[in-house]
Amino acid sequence: MLQPASLDLLIALRELLGEAHVLTSGDLSAYEQDWRKRTRGQALAVVRPSSTQQVADVVKACAQANVSIVPQGGNTGLVVGGIPDNTGAQVLLSLQRMNTIRAIDADNLALTAEAGCVLQNVQQAAEQSGFLFPLSLGAEGSCTLGGNLATNAGGTQVVRYGNARELCLGLEVVTAQGDVMHSLSGLRKDNTGYDLRHLMIGSEGTLGIITAATMKLYPMPAARLTAWAAVPSVAHAVKLLGLAHQHLGAGVTGFEMMGQFALRLVDKHYPQLRVPLWQDTPYCVLLENSDSESEAHARQRFEHLLELALEDGCVSDAVVAENLSQARNLWHIRESITLAQAEEGLNIKHDISVPISSIPRFVEETDALLTREISGVRLVNFGHLGDGNLHYNVQAPEGCDTQAFLRDHEDRVNALVYQSVKRFKGSISAEHGVGSMKVDSLPHYKDPVALALMQRIKHALDPQGLLNPGRVVR
Ligand SMILES: Cc1cc2nc3c(=O)[nH]c(=O)nc-3n(C[C@H](O)[C@H](O)[C@H](O)COP(=O)(O)OP(=O)(O)OC[C@H]3O[C@@H](n4cnc5c(N)ncnc54)[C@H](O)[C@@H]3O)c2cc1C
Repeated sequence: MLQPASLDLLIALRELLGEAHVLTSGDLSAYEQDWRKRTRGQALAVVRPSSTQQVADVVKACAQANVSIVPQGGNTGLVVGGIPDNTGAQVLLSLQRMNTIRAIDADNLALTAEAGCVLQNVQQAAEQSGFLFPLSLGAEGSCTLGGNLATNAGGTQVVRYGNARELCLGLEVVTAQGDVMHSLSGLRKDNTGYDLRHLMIGSEGTLGIITAATMKLYPMPAARLTAWAAVPSVAHAVKLLGLAHQHLGAGVTGFEMMGQFALRLVDKHYPQLRVPLWQDTPYCVLLENSDSESEAHARQRFEHLLELALEDGCVSDAVVAENLSQARNLWHIRESITLAQAEEGLNIKHDISVPISSIPRFVEETDALLTREISGVRLVNFGHLGDGNLHYNVQAPEGCDTQAFLRDHEDRVNALVYQSVKRFKGSISAEHGVGSMKVDSLPHYKDPVALALMQRIKHALDPQGLLNPGRVVR
């Protein structure tokens, strides 16, 4: 039974957005359930504004009714940050209808798009104008630019272009009071005080609602080549990365590492993808070389690098994709690991980073710790080695009841992995964010002064605590 205040709010929201864009019944699972289908919430209503002004009006109406708001883009987040809690009292604000590319400024190498634009559509809009928008991740067919910025998404091109933060020149944001901050200038230099853009990026909807962004574009490379290499160990993969930086310079645009068990899962669940070289090596690496000159130039430099690496022993075998379709298939294999893991059953995910130089010892020590503590545990280790980020995931022993495994071991596994991360001066969330999944772990691993400052910033910007409460900081 709804309280009269909630009924009044629903009437006000319907007046603002129209009946069709305030959803309270029917199948709302696409908005209320997280991507991994581990958590389901319930919203008072799902609202779908189509303009910045409508977002501001919704925020004002909710603030007046003291009702909290959960912003949502494509709902592909992996830390349960973009769905409502189960009280039935929160408004879920979907940005999906705000999906216009507002402008492309070729001379300024910049694109301005609304927050609900699907990442792949932003990439395509850039490409149609002859530019590269380099942010790229497995969920790019459904995640949104606003969600990418709210989580400071990383992905596969960070080694060269940085994460969402490094690509952002300006933001339009609706504050917790329903005011609009217009900061969409495409300026590359602007030292007029605190850079609020950087406060909003990565704040996961807890400080403001991003409604549009101006992003950097890059010239389209003349050639992009992809290679797949078998490496004898993690230390050899790190050595290969060093060689690639030395010999390809800024040409290194992708450097992913995948453990044998991760590839075995892809081979098992998607045999049509034909995973190369995985059976006889503990790790494979996917490298991408972008070149501004020509394909022949790119191939010659790439092959030279791989010859050196073979001579040096840090690569035991390698293939270079002959054409775009082969390259796409290699990337598809890498991007299918998450899905293959889901096919295999429930698992415990980690998105950690440690300094690249510490990765070999981190993996060696943490592998040993987990296999000693939990007999038969299977480690799905893969990730963006080029920027020090591993998805160090833990799959239940073969044939084990996965629900029971999670119930009995999840907290212990998380503690072991996070303590190991701490010993190596790393982060328990490299690119997925904190959401509600890691909010209670954060105080154990974050500098206490930094955490206290975060809490004070949250309180100063959102004193009513209405924007995505219980996420990132309590
Ligand atoms: C198969 C797969 C692969 C992935 N690979 C990667 C990867 O390589 N790198 C990576 O970084 N992530 C990856 N992710 C995680 C996810 O795709 C990213 O976090 C993405 O940036 C989330 O975008 P979204 O639009 O789906 O956001 P949502 O899931 O809708 O929301 C995520 C968070 O942002 C907030 N939010 C959303 N939109 C706004 C807005 N406009 N204003 C304010 N707050 C907002 C939400 O409240 C929530 O806290 C992957 C996910 C999947 C399913």
